[in-house]
Amino acid sequence: MIQKSAILNFPKSLLDRPVISRIIKEFDVEVNILQASITPEEDGRMFAIFRGQGQQVNSALSYLKESGIKVFLPVKNLVWDEDRCVHCTACVGQCPSSAFTVEQETYQVTYDAARCIACELCIPACSYGAVASVSDNLRIRGDV
Ligand code: SF4
Ligand code: SF4
Repeated sequence: MIQKSAILNFPKSLLDRPVISRIIKEFDVEVNILQASITPEEDGRMFAIFRGQGQQVNSALSYLKESGIKVFLPVKNLVWDEDRCVHCTACVGQCPSSAFTVEQETYQVTYDAARCIACELCIPACSYGAVASVSDNLRIRGDV
């Protein structure tokens, strides 16, 4: 069993096609949709986690690509600078995968890199510079 996070961009022409229900049925893949936004004026965007047997997940993602959907597999993770974090929770509401969560009793924010799908929605939400993409972080440090 494997799990892959992916960002899907649907062209307008595919917005009314049941491609997700089709891959669930045909490839026996579990799809956990973390966030989806579709407007009549724009293409659709979805963040989802695909879970199933390795070959089936890969075939399902290939099917989506062949259908005309752009599939992005995040290859970078986020860097959370805990020392800069003031636990304001602004990132928690932006995070579609619950990588950022807040402990209800202590109000402490924590980051779970394993859940991060690298959508980067939390970066502009953080006014304290506590989150950056790996590539930005390397640039800041002068490593690239
Ligand atoms: S990049 Fe930020 S908002 Fe996106 S999944 Fe990772 S922690 Fe959550
Ligand atoms: S938005 Fe920034 S400062 Fe606020 S909790 Fe998230 S990481 Fe910490």
